[in-house]
This record gives sequence, structure tokens and C-alpha cells, in this order.
Amino acid sequence: MKAWVDIYIGLGSNLDQPLQHVQQAFHELAQHKHLRNAKLSSIYQSKPVGPQDQPDFINAVAYAQTQLGPHDVLDVLQGLEQAHGRERIRHWGERSLDLDLLLYGNAQIHTPRLTVPHAHMLQRSFVLYPLADLVPNLCFDNGLNFSRELNALSFDLELVQKGI
Ligand code: ATP
Ligand code: CA
Ligand code: CA
Repeated sequence: MKAWVDIYIGLGSNLDQPLQHVQQAFHELAQHKHLRNAKLSSIYQSKPVGPQDQPDFINAVAYAQTQLGPHDVLDVLQGLEQAHGRERIRHWGERSLDLDLLLYGNAQIHTPRLTVPHAHMLQRSFVLYPLADLVPNLCFDNGLNFSRELNALSFDLELVQKGI
């Protein structure tokens, strides 16, 4: 029997009713046959990273457990992005749905398709604040000190919907 691994997924959208994309994507994750015990952080609004001439983003972080390997999780996430009509318009540009695999247990992964922990997560308030909703003690065993990183980031988000 394979072990269940704790994973964290960053959700983002700034096109076509972004709150609905994020809520629907979480619902799809929660219903997915290879994921269990899904939980969603509070939902936030954030200013775009990269090009500023695009709408604000809706962001959240989801927790789940899976027996899939990390690249199979990425396949699931990219399949959901496609199902939400994700198109690559420009780098760090507008998108109907972005799903990033933030953490896969304590794994450190560096392959052409996948970097885990997610490359930019420690610099992003819209990742670390919702992550802190789900993991109040912010204690991981992979060399990252989340509470120090979180304290270094100002809270430049708007709370849209209170979660757990
Ligand atoms: P950023 O990665 O800075 O948040 P982005 O989300 O806009 O930017 P995408 O265009 O969604 O980037 O993804 C580009 C590629 O990043 C994907 O094709 C995927 O293979 C790769 N990638 C590497 N690590 C991860 C990860 N942890 N989660 C999701 N995609 C990843
Ligand atoms: Ca992203
Ligand atoms: Ca992405």
C-alpha cells in the first residue's frame, strides 16, 4: 500500500469570473479520485505579479493527500487548467486558472517539468498567507523556515472569503 503524501496547491485566476474559477477548481480537486481530505484556505485578492495592465488575481491554497507521484499530480493540475480554458497569453500574464504544486510532502524536486518547493513561493504573499491559514504552525522538514519568510512579507492582500 502506497503512503499518502501531504500536498499543497496554489490556485490563482484573474479572467472570466476568477472567484468562480478558484472555487470550482477547488471543488474539482476535492472530488478527484486520486486526492482525499482536501481543504481550502481563505480566498484573497492580490495585485498582479509581472505585467500591471491586467486584472487583480484571486488566490488561495489547497491542501490534499495523494498517492500519486509528483509528476502525476502536475498532470492532474495541468488537466484542470486546460479544462478551465487556460491559454498562454504572456509570461506572468492573465489566466483563467493557474494551479501550482507548492509542496509535495518534504520532497525537493528539480526536473525539467517540476520544481518543488515551488520556485517563487517564498517571495509571494499570495502564497504564504493562505498557506499559513492551512498550516498555522508552518513547520516543515525541508529546510525552509516559513514563519521567518512569512514575517518578511507584508500583508498586501484583500481577504475575499474567510476559509478555515
Ligand atoms: P510561476 O511558476 O512563476 O508561478 P506560472 O505559474 O505563470 O509562473 P506556468 O506558465 O503556469 O507558470 O507554468 C510553466 C511551467 O512551469 C509548467 O509547464 C510546469 O512544467 C513548470 N513547473 C515547474 N515547477 C512547477 C510547479 N511546482 N508547479 C506547477 N508547474 C511547475
Ligand atoms: Ca503560478
Ligand atoms: Ca503555473
